[in-house]
Amino acid sequence: MTLTTLTPSATRPFDLAPGLTIGGESIIMMAGPCAVESYEQTRAVAAALQPYGVRILRGGAFKPRTSPEAFHGLGLEGLKILRSVADEFGMLVITEALGVEQLPLVMEYADIIQIGSRNMQHYPLLWAVGETDKPVLLKRGFMSTIKEWLLATEHIVKYGNQRIMLCERGIRTFETATRNTLDTNAIALVKQTSPFPVIGDPSHSTGRADLVLPASRAALAAGADGLIVEVHPNPAQALSDGDQSLPLDTLPGYFESVRKVAGAMERTIK
Ligand code: PEP
Ligand code: MN
Repeated sequence: MTLTTLTPSATRPFDLAPGLTIGGESIIMMAGPCAVESYEQTRAVAAALQPYGVRILRGGAFKPRTSPEAFHGLGLEGLKILRSVADEFGMLVITEALGVEQLPLVMEYADIIQIGSRNMQHYPLLWAVGETDKPVLLKRGFMSTIKEWLLATEHIVKYGNQRIMLCERGIRTFETATRNTLDTNAIALVKQTSPFPVIGDPSHSTGRADLVLPASRAALAAGADGLIVEVHPNPAQALSDGDQSLPLDTLPGYFESVRKVAGAMERTIK
């Protein structure tokens, strides 16, 4: 089966910023809260991540939530918080754009544009990010096949942007004990058949903080070039995804273990 018309290794590795290469020898860690809730919350997370060399701060300012009553993010204020905290700690910002109309605003504040799982086949948004010069993290739709995911990258590439990272964030299966099922097959397969770096998301794929470390190890062992992980100073009070957010006191053990697996894969952690 031909999954993509693109040639493997045509674009991998590439630079997210000067000196920060994705898809090369280094594993790239992206971490931060699910949603930006306040300046203090975001700053506390970034300060806790900095000692581990995390260079990319994640956080949602525009949140796609299943319930219309749920917290949908701080919007522009959230973008401003992300930018100022990331600048203080010398980090890049990755955050989600939910729609085409939001993209110019998100681009003003973010270094990397995240396309969420629910938007993987939002074609006008794919075309719009295809016209930008920012790297794009394309999350796999939780009901999407690998072929559909790779075809979505071709929509972006067609408009000129080849700096795409594929993010496996878990798919829906019959299983209910975990939020989603991390598809490690997919990580290994798109690493072989697509030209793009691959990022594992152990937070959304498990939905449980106690499974984030084992899922991180599995993603790296399958060949992921980086991880995107949710972290919160007080997960019990989180406005979104608290159950899957790592508390700050688990970070030393988490990074130590992830570093060992990276080493076993003959890679270093940036
Ligand atoms: C997120 O990263 O917080 C998020 C909403 O992820 P997904 O699109 O994978 O559900
Ligand atoms: Mn989340």
